[in-house]
Amino acid sequence: GNVLLTGGSGFIAAHVLDCLLDHGFDVVVTARSDEKGQRIVKSIDNADGKKQASYVVVGDIAKEGAFDEAVKSANPPFDYVVHTASPYQLHWDDPVRDCLDPAIKGTTGILKSVKAYAPSVKRVVITSSSAAVLNPPNHREVYDETSWSEITWEEGVEDIKKTYRASKKFAEKAAWDFVANESPSFDLATINNTYTFGPIQRSLPSLEAMNTSNHRIRDMVLGKMRKGIAPTAPVFTFVDVRDVALAHVRAMTIPEAGGNRFYLVGGYFSNPRIADIIREMPDEKLKLKGKLPSKEETEEDFPDDHWRFDSSKAQRVLGIEYTSLEKSVRDTVESILGFKGA
Ligand code: NDP
Repeated sequence: GNVLLTGGSGFIAAHVLDCLLDHGFDVVVTARSDEKGQRIVKSIDNADGKKQASYVVVGDIAKEGAFDEAVKSANPPFDYVVHTASPYQLHWDDPVRDCLDPAIKGTTGILKSVKAYAPSVKRVVITSSSAAVLNPPNHREVYDETSWSEITWEEGVEDIKKTYRASKKFAEKAAWDFVANESPSFDLATINNTYTFGPIQRSLPSLEAMNTSNHRIRDMVLGKMRKGIAPTAPVFTFVDVRDVALAHVRAMTIPEAGGNRFYLVGGYFSNPRIADIIREMPDEKLKLKGKLPSKEETEEDFPDDHWRFDSSKAQRVLGIEYTSLEKSVRDTVESILGFKGA
């Protein structure tokens, strides 16, 4: 089958791409420039020459019709679309222009383009987020796929600390509204992964360009927390990116997954726990001694009122077996230390 994967330069998309290719799919990724597209395709491990991947340039996804040409670009036509592209940073100069618009209009835009020009598409899988699920500080008893963030548009616009969360909630909501109101021939599934750790993408141009959720592991490895460990708050749950990637592929192919959200959480984490895991790694190779915060400094900092979650639907329906924090952190550290630049 043929898959269109948006946001190909991203961290999560890189793993979705590997997973799709390993499952024998032909993939076209979207990238914002030729240079990025070429870097992605070059980074694929294609020793046996069997993997079929190419790219198509799509500029700012907030633009009307941004995906029109991309959805037509496969021959035979696309069977599936996986939409990961969406801004994820901690700072916005203009919350609407830089975050809310590309998140929401990018999502409705791809759905409109598929409906108009790619009738062969059977399912669209969208990378939503736990941001569309959680409702801090008024935590539910237990979060699961029935939970929705109650964040308002105004909060998202006025407080840049809330902009990203609002962008994910309103983008996902717009997607479900689209399928309810427009009755397209495809159906929809969303992956609502929590804070995601895992090996950085091979196509990354520099460690500075690294995706947001791996920053705390990068900063620890680079010695930036040697003298003081950063607070873990406000996020205390993680999932490994390879589980997230597999969930996208399974949500695409398993018939019963259509029409569903999947809340992916592998477990709890804290910065002290991450430091402990890295301290246990063999140091001859890593040479991290002296870069990590001292053991005394990293007393357990886990709050009692952290949220509780039920992420078993992805295990049941998609067959996901969650990767441990230990493995996720170790593999992330090794990928950062082994980074050579694309
Ligand atoms: P990255 O920053 O690595 O990837 C973001 C991708 O979106 C990049 O390919 C980026 O392109 C593209 N993009 C952003 N804004 C635009 C725009 N205006 N026009 C075109 N392309 C754009 O982050 P992640 O891989 O972490 O995020 C991927 C998805 O996963 C997002 O939807 C995010 O919300 C979601 N997610 C991430 C979580 C995490 O913890 N990492 C948790 C839950 C959900 P470019 O490289 O050109 O900037």
